[in-house]
Amino acid sequence: VASRTPLMAGNWKMNMNHLQAIAFVQKLAWTLKDAEHDYDKVEVAVFPPFTDIRSVQTLVSTDKLKIGFGAQDCSQHDSGAYTGETSAEFLAALDTKYVLVGHSERRTLHNETDEICQAKVTAALRHGLIPVLCVGETLEQREASDDPASIAVAQLRKGLENLPADAEIVIAYEPVWAIGTGKVATAAQAQEVCHAIRVELATLLGDERAAGIRILYGGSVKPDNVASIMREPDIDGALVGGASLNIDDFSSIVRYTQ
Ligand code: PEP
Repeated sequence: VASRTPLMAGNWKMNMNHLQAIAFVQKLAWTLKDAEHDYDKVEVAVFPPFTDIRSVQTLVSTDKLKIGFGAQDCSQHDSGAYTGETSAEFLAALDTKYVLVGHSERRTLHNETDEICQAKVTAALRHGLIPVLCVGETLEQREASDDPASIAVAQLRKGLENLPADAEIVIAYEPVWAIGTGKVATAAQAQEVCHAIRVELATLLGDERAAGIRILYGGSVKPDNVASIMREPDIDGALVGGASLNIDDFSSIVRYTQ
């Protein structure tokens, strides 16, 4: 089995300005240092708003912190007349490692289709970023379907169309009904869909590559439910919203094995 280092990713959404971001990342690093956290065993990344990324980059590189960072979105275009957009190229120039693509809030509030997500995955890869493609069903879709996993799997298939052979990607399964609602999917529900995602990855990319791709679960992950979710064989980390804004909560999630 390929080794998949667990990834704990904090999606800050539209919270924290650059000063708050610096204070937070510094304190998170101290907290994890005090706890003797081994970053080679569990990787940590934060996803701040665009305006914070330059500050986080400076802090992380100056203090040689092992905390990674990503953006919450990127443009499908590299440059040009796209007012308000931020390109993957600019993010790469700031050493940004990851970028979320197709978070359900982008899909719902900004009408991002699977085709747009596919173009953003391609743009991220073109500039050496690792896209974290988010997929997941709404409650309505889950209730109307006799195969709830098929919805996330269909989004995955479209989002990964024409994926380059050597691409490094991360998938995040986030049932929309569990995001910010306090309603966490049961470990079994999360595993069922994450397993279906891995089976589809194997069909698309081959068994060996599929075995090396990290699949995160997201949706009301908290210190008290993370361990049971992480016990599932096809879940390799968590995408954490609300609880990633609190140092104690997020560091406990990172240290879920303790
Ligand atoms: C998210 O925004 O990706 C998320 C999972 O949020 P929360 O943890 O707050 O449900």
